[in-house]
Amino acid sequence: MKKLATVLLLVGIVFSASAQRRVKYDHAFSRDHNVCKKLKGDVLLYLVFVDSKYTKPWTYFDITSTLDSAVAAIHWIEEQAKINGQTLNISLKYFYADSQLTVYKDLPKKSLYETIEKQKLKQVNYSMNQWSDAIAKKIGEAFERNGWQADKHTKIKNKERLIAKLRNDEKVESVALMYMVNNYYKKDYSAAFNTYSNEDVEYAVTSYKNPKTIAHEFLHLFGSADLYNTEHKGKESKLVKLANKEFPNEIMTNKPIKLEEAYMSPITKYLIGWDEAIEENYRTALIEKRKKE
Ligand SMILES: [Zn+2]
Repeated sequence: MKKLATVLLLVGIVFSASAQRRVKYDHAFSRDHNVCKKLKGDVLLYLVFVDSKYTKPWTYFDITSTLDSAVAAIHWIEEQAKINGQTLNISLKYFYADSQLTVYKDLPKKSLYETIEKQKLKQVNYSMNQWSDAIAKKIGEAFERNGWQADKHTKIKNKERLIAKLRNDEKVESVALMYMVNNYYKKDYSAAFNTYSNEDVEYAVTSYKNPKTIAHEFLHLFGSADLYNTEHKGKESKLVKLANKEFPNEIMTNKPIKLEEAYMSPITKYLIGWDEAIEENYRTALIEKRKKE
């Protein structure tokens, strides 16, 4: 659970200079942005179970227990929506074609942890976007083998086309695309990608199958920010200090608590579009200075 989404913080940084200058960074940029905008209305959570050379093969038991966790995460988020007067209906689907519940694709490095830690930021984003697009393409090919007729406009070449098809088929406003890798027995990261980007669609990669991690990553896709320290944020983060003091068991922290013990702060509710306004001190905390990568 530690370092749940370190890379989330990296994702939107588009500067390429290597100087360690500090740049202004506003978490609210991911609010109402990219394919998962406000967390409202009809939303699809689409899971893709990915096997690779160095991750544990997905067994039927692993998959069914992960689906149970996803259902628990959805219930929790829908319950929060209800408490906060929001209309939200999240449906769950997962890849299944050719009598297969999994897609095979090796990660850029052995694990997500190594992919993030052993490459430069630009390469992390580039290689993960390639990886996730290649999986989307394989999914499209499997759908076609199973009788789906694609034309040049609908053929699935990447994540964006996959999301477009799912949105159209399921008649939903947003699609939360989540790739699941089976790494729960060892230390690994889970991360959301492109949530601060304009260049590619957002998606998450989740290494653990507990409900809190799934809910946490899902919320990232709708704009929420991590409320715990990561090495990229630096120890002086106003946001983390504030969260530690006021919201220690917030869903976007990395506390090893059960989902039922977690809650949403006004910060998360603002970022996912449930509140239009936020107290001034919280708003200020969302603007940080970060090391330029
Ligand atoms: Zn996170």
